[in-house]
Amino acid sequence: MDKQTLSFQAEVKQILHLVTHSLYSNKEIFLREIVSNASDACDKLRFEALDKAALYEDAPNLEIRVWFDTEAKTITIRDNGIGMSAEEAVAHLGTIAKSGTREFMAALEGEQKKDANLIGQFGVGFYSGFIVADRITVETRRAGLEAAEGVRWSSEGAGDFEVENIHRPERGTDVILHLREGEEEFLSAWKLRSIIGKYSDHISLPVLMPKTTWDEEKKEQVTTDEWEPVNKAAALWTRAKSEITDAQYQEFYKQISYDQEPPLAYTHNRVEGRTEYTQLLYVPAKAPFDLWNRDKRGGVKLYVKRVFIMDDAEALMPVYLRFVKGVIDSADLPLNVSRELLQESRDVKAIREGSTKRVLSMLEDVAENQKDKYAEFWGQFGAVLKEGMGEDHANQERLAKLLRFASTSADAGVSFADYVGRMKEGQEAIYYITADNLAGARNSPQLEIFRKKGIEVLLLTDRVDEWMLSHLYEFDGKPLQSVAKGGVDLGKLQDEEEKKAAEQAAEAFKPLLERLKTSLKERVKDVRASTRLVDSPACIVVDEGDMSSHLARLLKQAGQSAPKSMPILEVNPEHALVKRLEATADGEARFDDLAHILFDQALLAEGGQLEDPAAYVRRVNALLTA
Ligand code: ADP
Ligand code: MG
Repeated sequence: MDKQTLSFQAEVKQILHLVTHSLYSNKEIFLREIVSNASDACDKLRFEALDKAALYEDAPNLEIRVWFDTEAKTITIRDNGIGMSAEEAVAHLGTIAKSGTREFMAALEGEQKKDANLIGQFGVGFYSGFIVADRITVETRRAGLEAAEGVRWSSEGAGDFEVENIHRPERGTDVILHLREGEEEFLSAWKLRSIIGKYSDHISLPVLMPKTTWDEEKKEQVTTDEWEPVNKAAALWTRAKSEITDAQYQEFYKQISYDQEPPLAYTHNRVEGRTEYTQLLYVPAKAPFDLWNRDKRGGVKLYVKRVFIMDDAEALMPVYLRFVKGVIDSADLPLNVSRELLQESRDVKAIREGSTKRVLSMLEDVAENQKDKYAEFWGQFGAVLKEGMGEDHANQERLAKLLRFASTSADAGVSFADYVGRMKEGQEAIYYITADNLAGARNSPQLEIFRKKGIEVLLLTDRVDEWMLSHLYEFDGKPLQSVAKGGVDLGKLQDEEEKKAAEQAAEAFKPLLERLKTSLKERVKDVRASTRLVDSPACIVVDEGDMSSHLARLLKQAGQSAPKSMPILEVNPEHALVKRLEATADGEARFDDLAHILFDQALLAEGGQLEDPAAYVRRVNALLTA
């Protein structure tokens, strides 16, 4: 291929601009990003070579070398990893294939502090080289290709880049940074070593730099021809717990997660027995920007006997624990384990079950002993954990104990156990209401009788709650009961007198109910006298087996069709508006209007939307001006 000049993809241009301008205050991260790409390239080679040993050619020892040239003002990062073909260089260094680019740019442009860690998280690390370099040259040859198929890629990081074929006997990649004017501070062995020590110590292959000695004549440090490792190159999780400090655990977390905040909790274990593996798992303190993306690659990296295998090992963690970060290193899996094999392997299943249990115990421990911390965790990840109620039946009971809610007695932090502990004498069910938000839930007319009787009701306002409730029916033998579904049967909580009074009221009320049913026959399934209302004239409930109106709304918002089921209108025989209806003669147009207003208001009160708001306004106005 002759020299070609190609244009960066539009997104790359934007990223380049943002990265070089926003991350300047954190510029030393360029070295971390480029060294980590070199390390990834070696991991990839090792993986491909598992069933194609010839790829190692005559250089089986994978390593990274870093050096600089004071005269040319360059820093070079060399690896003998997988390398790139010309097509790969164009694709990987000229376009951004990954999703999340837009979020990344929004985050960098946003008001919050310019977080240099975002760059690694979004997979655009290579471009950080342009923070300190006004030209980057990449010389590379992919493992398995001929020397003549080497590639030189070069760019000033503005609109375009050049590629051409070169002769390159060495497998792997050199990234050559031509430093900008004013960035000479990086032309220092001490500086580069300290940056590598800070960010890249955990990299499990050696990062080498030329040894330096003191030159008596020149009175300065000079580099020699000898190379020496500048990182520890020992994977942290393989060391004994007793030899690792808390600070080291935290540093390792930063390196694998790109998260600046210290983790909320971690657990490190060597599991022995039928399957042997080591796990080092962290729960972050803050949710990542893409927590809701269920397809995002998992945060747990799979190693086999310290060889990195893959990092989207969803087979290792259930989706509802996708926020967990860390490393699992298996002693039994074959090194050439494929994604497909991973899904089926019994060892992997055992690892997954064991690791899930570990994470749950870690959370139980925090919930038990560090209540404030757990509240923080819940705020960040609670809604995700709820997904587990449907996903992980085996652990449902344990998970249910970890759930926290708002209720009519507390703004947050109510567990099922707390609730059950506060149940009234004779109360048989755990009552809840679902709504779009807390205010809506709290003010719902359906709660009136519960409030009057001092019965606590859980207020569920997460989107996932409805879904969770389709999998969770009881806790500790107590059924979960919606206050907006079916008739309220307060059972033993209502005394005989109240029951009798209600029955009598309903009887006397029958004619009005029938009239209302006729007026509203297009809109309701039934009209009933309510036992749950105290202050409000009416409320909407759904039949026992029907979908809650909140869920129907959520589905509609998500563009899905919800089965159309008509609601039930419950009216409060004691309310003035209802009494007025009773006194309004049939056939009068006014009765019809009042009936519709009653229904529309009940819909509005529970957060629903009117199908014909204009008709509602017209009716209310007619009343106001009558
Ligand atoms: P990420 O590392 O998250 O994929 P980067 O912007 O850091 O994103 O790198 C982009 C891509 O360029 C990498 O995915 C890889 O395909 C390629 N690449 C970068 N550096 C190297 C290297 N030293 N050897 C081989 N490929 C590389
Ligand atoms: Mg990278």
